[in-house]
Amino acid sequence: MTAGTAENGRFTSTKLAGAVRHDWTRDEVAALFALPFPDLIYQAQTVHRAYFDATQVQVSTLLSIKTGGCPEDCAYCPQSAKYDTGVKAEKLMALDVVLKEAKAAKDAGASRFCMGAAWRNPKDRDLDKVCAMVEGVRAMGLETCVTLGMLTKPQAERLKDSGLDYYNHNLDTSPEFYGDIITTRTYQDRLDTLSHVRDAGINVCCGGIVGMGESADDRVGMIATLASLPAHPESVPINMLVQVEGTPLMGESKLDPLDFVRTIAAARITMPRSMVRLSAGREDMNDEMQALCFLAGANSIFYGPKLLTTPNPAADRDRVLMNRLGMRAMD
Ligand code: SF4
Repeated sequence: MTAGTAENGRFTSTKLAGAVRHDWTRDEVAALFALPFPDLIYQAQTVHRAYFDATQVQVSTLLSIKTGGCPEDCAYCPQSAKYDTGVKAEKLMALDVVLKEAKAAKDAGASRFCMGAAWRNPKDRDLDKVCAMVEGVRAMGLETCVTLGMLTKPQAERLKDSGLDYYNHNLDTSPEFYGDIITTRTYQDRLDTLSHVRDAGINVCCGGIVGMGESADDRVGMIATLASLPAHPESVPINMLVQVEGTPLMGESKLDPLDFVRTIAAARITMPRSMVRLSAGREDMNDEMQALCFLAGANSIFYGPKLLTTPNPAADRDRVLMNRLGMRAMD
């Protein structure tokens, strides 16, 4: 199948829905965002169904294994030491505590266990401890994902040797808007870490955040950048900003929820084989909004009461939602 053009929201005879392409232009992505909403959702559903069972949702659980005290200045993040958010800096969690949490996540139905550490980059001695966590969690039959900040090539290889399945490192936003959000490392630093991870043979989890005061063109730029990476990230988390008191983005004007849905749909259409994760911000979304996100091609969620340091819907609410929609967790 080849990818659909945006003209009138219909697929042309030369290009059908759902090809995996890496040459998406900004104009093409902008044209997707500009489609009438029903046409956009129709395209997203068509692409989604070409690769996935649209009734299934992959479920991940995220644990903060090292909270707070981060030297980076990401303007959305309550874990940055630069902002007074009330998040206390903690040490790296002990292995047995992490394994207990992983077991509970597995019992609750998670298939992937993600571990996040608030570091600019891991020290080699910390990496050894994280590798032991990866080995332990994998031994339980769960997929593993970690997010530890920037990695060198040897560190990525060390993680691969421990059996790591996924590494999360988000591009966050468009290259143009990035400097308004983070000044302590560059967009290129992020791309370099992503290529070390990819070269090491680890699956990539990479997406961004919307609702940070970016323009519509920045949302286009973020999706176009992700979709034109040499290989699409296997997981693409799309986050709605969770505003936290004390961070510079507190009080930012709220994004139109339908623009969030459009971003999900554009990710689905441009990265047809990727798992598109409806990520942070779900706590503030009603069931109808989440249903729209699934219709737009989201097929992964985080399960559990917390996403690192911000609230997430309780597992019970998610179960009720899945039942209401006739959807189920992916095996
Ligand atoms: S997003 Fe990550 S790197 Fe940025 S401040 Fe928060 S913990 Fe640090």
